[in-house]
Amino acid sequence: MRKIVLASSNPGKLAEIREVLADSEIELVAQSEFGIADAEETGITFVENALLKARHAARLSGLPALADDSGICVDVLGGAPGLYSARYAGEHGNNAANNAKLLDVLRDAPDDQRSAHFHCTLVLLRSADDPAPLIAEGLWRGRILHAPQGDKGFGYDPVFFTEAQGPAGELDPAVKNRVSHRGLALARLRELLDAEKR
Ligand code: IMP
Repeated sequence: MRKIVLASSNPGKLAEIREVLADSEIELVAQSEFGIADAEETGITFVENALLKARHAARLSGLPALADDSGICVDVLGGAPGLYSARYAGEHGNNAANNAKLLDVLRDAPDDQRSAHFHCTLVLLRSADDPAPLIAEGLWRGRILHAPQGDKGFGYDPVFFTEAQGPAGELDPAVKNRVSHRGLALARLRELLDAEKR
């Protein structure tokens, strides 16, 4: 069993990543269990922020670290809130306020102007000074609803809809993990880890 610290304090992410890696050789430990606080996200791309977070957690824990930087990008808003998804309405991690702000900004937009996608970048660092991190990305395309629907998932899930799966807020977690940006990025990460063993 390989112990890896997850460089996040987001319980939604932790639950999804743990679930997908449950049958792997990886034991994921939240950085909070080491008393590690969130790193400052000063990058201007998902991959920069994921690297910053993973490096911070690897340095302070002395363990390999996995970071997820993710967000929702709305086409008509030029990709916003994007990198700033967690703090779109000001306060970091206030999901209800973030969703309310997004619905308000898009209140006059018809369905064909509500297209959006979730983006997830995962970075795995074997150590804080690892010069060749494993990087895996995934996208999940859909659109923004006109009102929240469902109480499953986290973050922007209640306002996200895909043609194939319907409202994300009503999606069974196992299904979300198969099709979502994070699920796809984790599948890719597992391929990269498997390739390292060969
Ligand atoms: P980060 O911690 O800076 O990567 O913030 C990611 C933010 O993007 C989260 O706080 C959520 O608001 C949003 N987000 C990322 N992934 C998901 C998801 O799977 N569902 C809903 N919201 C998500």
